[in-house]
Amino acid sequence: MENKTIARTLRLLSQLMELHNENSFKVKSMAAAAFKIDKLPFSVAQKNLEEIEKIDSIGKSTASKINELIKTGVIAELQSLFEKTPPGVVEIMSIKGLGPKKVLTIWNELGIETVGELYYACNENRLIEAKGFGFKTQEEIRKAIEFKIASNGRFLYRQVEEIAEPLLLDLKKVLPGQLISFTGDYRRKCEIVDGLDVLIGCPLNEDIIAKIHSLSFLSLIKTDGKRIESEHSTGIKIYLDFCGHEAFYSELAWKTGTAEHLAELKSRLKEVPLVVSSEKDLYLKAGLPLIEPELREGRNEFELADKGMLPKLVEWDDLKGTLHSHSTWSDGVHTLEQMALYCRDKLGLEYMGISDHSKTAVYAKGLSEERVLAQHQEIDQLNGKISNFRILKGIESDILFDGSLDYPDELLATFDFVIASVHSAFKMNEEKATSRLIKAIENPYTTILGHPTGRLLLSRKGYPINYEKVIDACAANQVIIEINSNPLRLDIDWRWHQYALEKGVMLSINPDAHSIKGFHDTHFGILAARKGGVSASNCLNALNLEAITAYLKQKRGIKA
Ligand SMILES: [Zn+2]
Ligand SMILES: [Zn+2]
Repeated sequence: MENKTIARTLRLLSQLMELHNENSFKVKSMAAAAFKIDKLPFSVAQKNLEEIEKIDSIGKSTASKINELIKTGVIAELQSLFEKTPPGVVEIMSIKGLGPKKVLTIWNELGIETVGELYYACNENRLIEAKGFGFKTQEEIRKAIEFKIASNGRFLYRQVEEIAEPLLLDLKKVLPGQLISFTGDYRRKCEIVDGLDVLIGCPLNEDIIAKIHSLSFLSLIKTDGKRIESEHSTGIKIYLDFCGHEAFYSELAWKTGTAEHLAELKSRLKEVPLVVSSEKDLYLKAGLPLIEPELREGRNEFELADKGMLPKLVEWDDLKGTLHSHSTWSDGVHTLEQMALYCRDKLGLEYMGISDHSKTAVYAKGLSEERVLAQHQEIDQLNGKISNFRILKGIESDILFDGSLDYPDELLATFDFVIASVHSAFKMNEEKATSRLIKAIENPYTTILGHPTGRLLLSRKGYPINYEKVIDACAANQVIIEINSNPLRLDIDWRWHQYALEKGVMLSINPDAHSIKGFHDTHFGILAARKGGVSASNCLNALNLEAITAYLKQKRGIKA
């Protein structure tokens, strides 16, 4: 056994001892021993217990632990500490910049037990209020986690988008006048992307390789004369494919759709043309209208195209308002007024639905019944003051363990809309989780079902639900389903949008904004909705103020 391994094990032992509040003298001496052993010029594993005890700054009890490790490969005390610690918490301890004290706060005060939950908490500003944390620490942790996720080779769409658009500009600069486009998963706006594919309409040669080399954030891995495989400094793999200028549009199509989509496309072409003037031209040759890249998944897009029913996909400009946002009343960072003015002046929206957390969400400063009424007063005041805009009174009400909402009916009746969301008890089986949601959907005050599965992409699987049953219940009870736009959530999954639309269920593209910046997450929700084949006519928040007000009144049984 190498000294390094022994030192690492002792360090972990000292961290876990500290995490479990053991005697600080013992913790320190264990850490000191780890430090010492890392630096020793000889192998500790070759020494017997007596010799280990003689090593400077290693006490008797530490020496016996080291001896136990060398002889048996484990330390019993460490094993028992492991048993007392959720594996996710041990993983959190491995994040750069997080010592046992901070991990303890995260675990005990915030109830976070996995890296995914921690990442989400950073994005929701939940760390800044915990003892010993600040905005800066939160940002450092967020970055460290992104790096950790990235090391698994899979990325959120948002992470890839951050590098993709600047890369495109740089490529256009070094290769002026060339046709350049993204292809693959990224062009299809998949929620998780393995690598970034780019197609360039010119043959690859030495001169081009040199130009690509000049992009300092790329490390050149290899080239085979047609393709350059490289890696961005963030760890995202980048594949640059080259083709002749004339072949560009046909190649673009062949490199964008999934295998299933392309097989179907091919079967509809008498012969595969090498040169087309655009993708539209290619689809036309197959007797089809252009199918948008997002839809080229090999699902039902050809069927829709054949019936002339391809949807006009929703766009940013279709949205007239926004629902689901949090202010300083709960865990947001901006005031109601700041949020409202931003929506009106910067985003050009007609309304904003505020939906701070309800009373059960104590960690997020959820509103007590008195505070709900106080917030309504402030909203009334602001609505009197801010012209050409309206703040709608909403709440993100926790769905409790048994599916009930956490305010009495009289209070629920005072809101313009109610988003019902699960924020606790994730470890339910499908049957229980489904019936909990259905009970919440059947509550006459529920307007929108929030992030239906609680998933956090790449880090936490949602609780299992029976999608058909949940969507059917929404249809029966006139409940709208949220497309939560947080790039980590994108929940309800786009693969279920069509089923919801077939059942006549409306969707709402909600930012779940916790700051004015958070409204921009709507962008990711729109991409997900487009992938799901959603049009403006299927979106609650594409309704203008007048229409949504009438809709919400009707839903609550109030005659307009
Ligand atoms: Zn929520
Ligand atoms: Zn929320």
